[in-house]
Amino acid sequence: MAAVKKAGNALIIGAGLGGLAAALELASRGWRVQVLDQRSGPGGKAFTERLGPYRFDTGPSLLTLLPVFDELFALTGADREAYFGARPLEEIARYFWPDGTALRSFSSPRTLADSFSRAGIARTREVLAYLEHSRKLYERSTPLFLYDTIDPRSLWRRPALWPRLLGILGLDTGRTLHEVHRSFFRDSRARQFFDRYATYNGSNPYEAPGTLALIPHVEYGLGAWAPEGGIYTIPLAMERRAREMGVEFCYACTVESLAPPAGEGGGWIAETSRGSFEADVLFSNIDPQGFYGLLGDPPRTRRYQVEDSRLSSSALVFYWGLGNTYPQTGLHNIFFGSDYPGEFRSIFQDRQVPEDPTIYVNITAKYVPGDAPEGSENWFVLVNAPPRGEQNWDEVVPAVRERVIASLERRLDRDIGRYIQEESWLAPPGIEELTGSYRGSLYGPSSNHWKSAFLRHPNKSSLYRHLYFCGGSAHPGGGMPLVVLSGRLAVRELLRSW
Ligand SMILES: Cc1cc2nc3c(=O)[nH]c(=O)nc-3n(C[C@H](O)[C@H](O)[C@H](O)COP(=O)(O)OP(=O)(O)OC[C@H]3O[C@@H](n4cnc5c(N)ncnc54)[C@H](O)[C@@H]3O)c2cc1C
Repeated sequence: MAAVKKAGNALIIGAGLGGLAAALELASRGWRVQVLDQRSGPGGKAFTERLGPYRFDTGPSLLTLLPVFDELFALTGADREAYFGARPLEEIARYFWPDGTALRSFSSPRTLADSFSRAGIARTREVLAYLEHSRKLYERSTPLFLYDTIDPRSLWRRPALWPRLLGILGLDTGRTLHEVHRSFFRDSRARQFFDRYATYNGSNPYEAPGTLALIPHVEYGLGAWAPEGGIYTIPLAMERRAREMGVEFCYACTVESLAPPAGEGGGWIAETSRGSFEADVLFSNIDPQGFYGLLGDPPRTRRYQVEDSRLSSSALVFYWGLGNTYPQTGLHNIFFGSDYPGEFRSIFQDRQVPEDPTIYVNITAKYVPGDAPEGSENWFVLVNAPPRGEQNWDEVVPAVRERVIASLERRLDRDIGRYIQEESWLAPPGIEELTGSYRGSLYGPSSNHWKSAFLRHPNKSSLYRHLYFCGGSAHPGGGMPLVVLSGRLAVRELLRSW
């Protein structure tokens, strides 16, 4: 009988949601785990900030695929609801077009379709037909792309996957997402509504494959939720459960260099601002670019460098504590810009913040009353932006701020600027500095090409022993539930070969 190797010890760099998921899964399998992060607490991009009496979630705001979190907690023998509560959203978002059209989106295909019909944007049956298309794409592609590991270098060893892969390659990879929407909808507003889903992984609907039409099913077929205390309760809950299972955390702990195992019995060594750490296996929850830098950028790792043209978009975010309330708005609000193709040209070709950008406003105080004082609201205002390049952000930020305030005041026909009591902002260089995300891109490589899913960094290193990757730049990609899956897939890869 083959000897079963005992659980070992693991070091995880990064307490983002991917790193936390890996920690929980490893601990539940008896591993000793230490997590190191340069920030003051868990969450990475999913962090929190207080400005006077206002609280903000600084990064992600829309929670989908909640069962991914349920399964993770269940794996550790816990009930997710005992750690963080989440309310299903019936109304998901409010949409505003420059021509005055307004629409509310709801979490079921039928109510969404009726909403489109009432707004005069599309017929009920057109929307239902599209959402059915979205459901089919989701169901055919996710078993392979979300719940399995795909490293092109090892695919030839898994012939069982080939027919599924061929089937998926036929799923609208030959058309762009926008072309798919043109085939379903005559009205440009309906196309714009669904084109926006490309931005859920930082991509461009005019380049990304039509396969991304699977994303709307996530929201309208499977649902969206609002965590009861805001998004930040998620990393806090994951960290709490991990500590209960014996995981140790070291914060304000910047990894400065790494040394791979020397010889058969050796382990990984991390030199950090808080001393030296050693472990049998290493999990990277940081961007591969930054990770290989910690190893001294060995030439053989260059194949994993992502050219700037392949990066997903970044964002410019304003956090405003407003001494006023705006009943026209809901928890999630989208104010479309007037030139959608131009907006994506600005971001992906000209590398500029668009002149008249689509503006996303998230107001958690609508659901979490303690996030703003009575009679006030906490506005998280995001516009898509290119990753950090040659831009002078000190000039860009105030100019965009003025344009955004003017646009929102015009659209809501209310004063906003004069009610800002507290404020701060986050631009691509800040995102890069705080989270280690290369050039501040939000989701690692974009999905602008049909091959993108195969080009993400694999969960298991083929270059170094006992090295695994999770997080937004690794397979299966960015977004909260996906990085949780990446943490679990990385552990699965470890257990296969341990
Ligand atoms: C503004 C914004 C809006 C977003 N909106 C959404 C949304 O609505 N819905 C959604 O699902 N997703 C959204 N996302 C994306 C989502 O937040 C990310 O995909 C996800 O949280 C990334 O998790 P991760 O596991 O990759 O780790 P990250 O969050 O990237 O964390 C990595 C961690 O590694 C640490 N680190 C890096 N280098 C070092 C080092 N040398 N030493 C020690 N520690 C280090 C960092 O401090 C950080 O804590 C958004 C992101 C941003 C920034």
